[in-house]
Amino acid sequence: MAETNALPLIELAEQFAKLPGIGMKTAQRLAYFVMSMSKEEAKEFSEAIIRAHSTVHMCRICQNLTDKEVCPICDDTERDKSTICVVESPKDITAFERTREYKGVYHVLHGLISPINNVSPDDIKIKELLERVKNDEILEVIMATNPTVEGEATAMYISKLLKPLGIKVTRLAFGLPIGGILEYADEVTLFKALENRSEI
Ligand SMILES: [Zn+2]
Repeated sequence: MAETNALPLIELAEQFAKLPGIGMKTAQRLAYFVMSMSKEEAKEFSEAIIRAHSTVHMCRICQNLTDKEVCPICDDTERDKSTICVVESPKDITAFERTREYKGVYHVLHGLISPINNVSPDDIKIKELLERVKNDEILEVIMATNPTVEGEATAMYISKLLKPLGIKVTRLAFGLPIGGILEYADEVTLFKALENRSEI
């Protein structure tokens, strides 16, 4: 924005520009859009951010984001608690739930091991996964990280930790291109990847 713009408007645009996929041009458009809202709408908008931020936290069991102590999936007695699907982020759970075929539970790592980005195994929720596997009756762990370099490396790292515990560890059969992202995969592709998973 030019210096002729009001400072609060420039500051608002700068906040929007922090969001993923939002460039400065779009950020400016969004800032102007906020100005076209009623005062009440603008208040609701800002309060929704604060509310989500202060009430949503990680599920005690699977680390998915929830506003309860335990998320609805872990709390569901119909779900098969002996199968854990390990994903990188909560977004990936949404992708699997869309298939309506997976009946097990999840574990969210909140990241992937990445030496280049200084992310070590201790920085993601691996310890919590091991605790679950040691304390609960787990028969299978499905490694459903994306087929990227980091996704593969994380899957292999976790598999090496779980195998000595006698747990069956499987990996999705990706018909997806390398680097393909779970959240963009359609339901059929994802269901096939799940159905054709193989032991690693
Ligand atoms: Zn949960």
